[in-house]
Amino acid sequence: MFRHSANHIDTYYAHSLKDQLVSYAPLQASGHFDVAIIGAGFSGLHTGLRLALAGKKVVILEASRVAWAASGRNGGQAILGWSCDMPPIEKALGHERAKILWDSMVWASKEIQALPVRHGFDVDYRQGHLWTSVLPRREKFLHEWQEEAANKWQYDQLQFINRNEMPEWLGTERYQAGLYDPNGGHLHPLKLAQGLAQAFVQAGGYLHEHSKVTGYISHQNGYRIDCNDTQITADVLVLACNAYIDQLDKPVARKIIPVGNYQVATETLSAELATSLIPKNVCVTDNQFVLDYFRLTPDNRLLFGGGCTYLGGLPKDIAKATRPFINRVFPQLKNVNIDFAWGGHLDITMKRTPDIGGENNRYWMQGYSGHGVLPTLAAARAVSDAILGDESLLSLYQDIHNPSFPPGERLASTIEALGKAWYRLRDFI
Ligand SMILES: Cc1cc2nc3c(=O)[nH]c(=O)nc-3n(C[C@H](O)[C@H](O)[C@H](O)COP(=O)(O)OP(=O)(O)OC[C@H]3O[C@@H](n4cnc5c(N)ncnc54)[C@H](O)[C@@H]3O)c2cc1C
Repeated sequence: MFRHSANHIDTYYAHSLKDQLVSYAPLQASGHFDVAIIGAGFSGLHTGLRLALAGKKVVILEASRVAWAASGRNGGQAILGWSCDMPPIEKALGHERAKILWDSMVWASKEIQALPVRHGFDVDYRQGHLWTSVLPRREKFLHEWQEEAANKWQYDQLQFINRNEMPEWLGTERYQAGLYDPNGGHLHPLKLAQGLAQAFVQAGGYLHEHSKVTGYISHQNGYRIDCNDTQITADVLVLACNAYIDQLDKPVARKIIPVGNYQVATETLSAELATSLIPKNVCVTDNQFVLDYFRLTPDNRLLFGGGCTYLGGLPKDIAKATRPFINRVFPQLKNVNIDFAWGGHLDITMKRTPDIGGENNRYWMQGYSGHGVLPTLAAARAVSDAILGDESLLSLYQDIHNPSFPPGERLASTIEALGKAWYRLRDFI
């Protein structure tokens, strides 16, 4: 369904790195690998790096450029937890096993900061996430999560911010309250992907851009993979294709549907104006079902996302579509120009639960449902550990059941859109 372009789309991130993006040659020769990974987003890169460091011969095949899709286009908010929150995970696994997954998320929040230091690259990491409530009646969700996090998951670092304190955090009247997480933060996602790719190659990994995998079959206890008019073989196959998996593996593809999401970057603001919007420079999400998310960049732009689309499309004019969302949070920015506007696709599962699994030496990672910066790292740990012989984390994900969407993308998307319309309505009543 999606067509890959040969280069990055025009995002603020690609623009900010335009002379520093490293290129990797397309696959041109056959060969045998311990592990072949399809897709060079965060899922594929984190997994590849962990396996290459463990001594495996690993190839990553990317249809376009490193982090061409969601990993190079997202809001850069490294927030703890999964899109579905903990209740469905606890329901599927029970408290004790769900706690192990939660702990792996806390691990990911530390590891995302340690990785760049360990491998010598920068991701512009800034500390802090603020979860805000628009509706007074939704303030209770902030209290409930603070209590659940402390009592159930032994995560007691969340700080409740009441309405009187909000001006210290945000230059807007829109929010009733907030919940601050010092272990969340924000970063430049394309810098992270570029750094991971370079660390992977330095660790002995093989990385090929412009190398779209068109099919694979089981072959001599492993897999034979078709790519660029050549074939490679591998003992283990990892699908890290996200919303772009398309026809490559239909059973895996049917667990998710692609949903469009988009954001903008304003022109560079004066330091004074930027600081007045988000004085503590945290990243922000609200707790509406269709949420607004925003943060500042190091060069003082406001990066703002919100709104989503179904059936694979994105608004024709993303800047125009996003402007009303910015105005209702920061009316003081109504005359500020938007320099960049772009979108990408999320891989939504029916219950918003992550879909991470493996069988017959074929693994997959998807279903982040719009929240993947930290979850991709937690999932990569589970899959790479399993490939190296320790299935303890992966077995937890495998016990979370993800139903398949009905065949036919339009029908699946329509069902999802109807469901979402109901929740969107609940954002207003
Ligand atoms: C607009 C937007 C904003 C977001 N904001 C946030 C945020 O602020 N915080 C957060 O936590 N999450 C956010 N997300 C979600 C997050 O970006 C994703 O969950 C995460 O990046 C998924 O990483 P991935 O590696 O699994 O997939 P992707 O990054 O999508 O990578 C998949 C890769 O596979 C490649 N591929 C697919 N098929 C083939 C094939 N046949 N052969 C070779 N290569 C192939 C694609 O080209 C692509 O590069 C956002 C997503 C979007 C779209």
